[in-house]
Amino acid sequence: MGDGGWMEWWKTVGLKSGTQLLHYSSEDKVMEKLVSLCKRRGFIFRSSDIYGGLESTYDYGPLGVELKNNVKQLWWRDVVTSRSDVVGMDASILMNPKVWEASGHLSEFHDPMVDCKNCKARFRADHIDLDKNCPTCGVQDWTEARQFNLMLKTHYGPSEDSSSVIYLRPETAQGIFVNFANAQSTARMKLPFGVAQIGKAFRNEITTGNFLFRSREFEQMEMEFFVHPDETGNWLEYWSDSRLAWYKNLGIREDRLKLRPHGDDELAHYAAACFDVEYEFPFGWSELEGIAERGTFDLDQHAKHSGKKLTWFDSKNNEHITPAVVEASAGVDRTVLTILVDAYHEEEVKGENRVVLRLSPKVAPTTVAVFPLVNRDSMPEIAEKIVESLRGDFAAFFDAGGSIGRRYRRQDEAGTPYGVTVDSDTLEDQTVTVRERDTMAQERVAMDQLPAYFRDKIR
Ligand code: ATP
Repeated sequence: MGDGGWMEWWKTVGLKSGTQLLHYSSEDKVMEKLVSLCKRRGFIFRSSDIYGGLESTYDYGPLGVELKNNVKQLWWRDVVTSRSDVVGMDASILMNPKVWEASGHLSEFHDPMVDCKNCKARFRADHIDLDKNCPTCGVQDWTEARQFNLMLKTHYGPSEDSSSVIYLRPETAQGIFVNFANAQSTARMKLPFGVAQIGKAFRNEITTGNFLFRSREFEQMEMEFFVHPDETGNWLEYWSDSRLAWYKNLGIREDRLKLRPHGDDELAHYAAACFDVEYEFPFGWSELEGIAERGTFDLDQHAKHSGKKLTWFDSKNNEHITPAVVEASAGVDRTVLTILVDAYHEEEVKGENRVVLRLSPKVAPTTVAVFPLVNRDSMPEIAEKIVESLRGDFAAFFDAGGSIGRRYRRQDEAGTPYGVTVDSDTLEDQTVTVRERDTMAQERVAMDQLPAYFRDKIR
């Protein structure tokens, strides 16, 4: 794609009027380059591209979906299946509207919005300085700030009157709270225990932008941990540390990650204390995940509004208690964006620019790419056999198209950690060249040792 084409695409994906843009440094082109790479290599496309797209909505392509699935699987393994005190669930996106009345989303889930009277640009009032001029047109003529509810509405069933209004969930958490008793009793969980889920959420954000960072349709990975109300502080600390460690374990640079405690003025209506996991993006430090102490707010509210008992029987003290909640709420798409931004790297090799995504093998869409040096002398057949032998354990990929240099470059951009080349020596001694993506170091390895070799490297 020529420059003209992708600049047009870039304009539509994120760098539009809005608060996020204000943090963007024009010297730093990493975000632009990343968007271009994502399209070029099939990580992320804009949604409904052939119709001109839909602002800030994205489709994950063949490589993107693998990366995203790897992220979700690693989260699920860390938070759910590797533990005995957390179970999973999968609630529906559409819920009884009474849920949102009880949770406070109908009355509280607002952002303040202002318009520039001169150019009509719209901003989140808490994201810009209203004593300054409009960043779009340079004039200072603001409307009063008004509250804007972020829930996306639709109608349920064939009638379109107010009685059929229903909301696309703005978070997955409420699906867990309303199932507290179902999950606890069927899985026979005792305090402290957690319930986790991954799923889509929707918010009618006033301003979107910075590519995947803020969109109106996104995916969350949320875990609600139910604890005795006296123990919330310890668990808040435990989950904050544990969640920060999870991001480090994905290979994200540690000096670009931090835990930030919320000030009293930023706490959500339900939260008593909160830590954000933040990453230093090219547009500034921004939130990846919130770990919040929600107290008994959610269960109390749902018990009150539904008339159902949402308590747990503490047999030791012979009393019914309403558990308090520590929540860890992460964004799948923000994590994917972080991994991509963090991995993006350019360097000069023999006078040429090399773009490489330094993805950890844990998340890389392809782990090993296998190439026949030339398409003859049974090299393609041998390479395909190698792919088959690796497929059970690794995401292996066969590529015979173009010069070997081109194939390496394609895989560097796709973030593939290892390349295996079958050449004329292979026919003689059954060894292949293994090339490591980041160092470009090459070594000969016996073909039948490849599964063990990669298992050892990736462990
Ligand atoms: P922000 O302050 O950035 O609007 P938030 O504090 O409202 O985020 P939460 O309600 O805590 O976000 O949601 C939990 C997580 O869900 C966020 O940390 C983020 O990773 C993800 N998330 C929230 N809103 C969006 C969005 N519009 N686009 C993409 N991811 C989002």
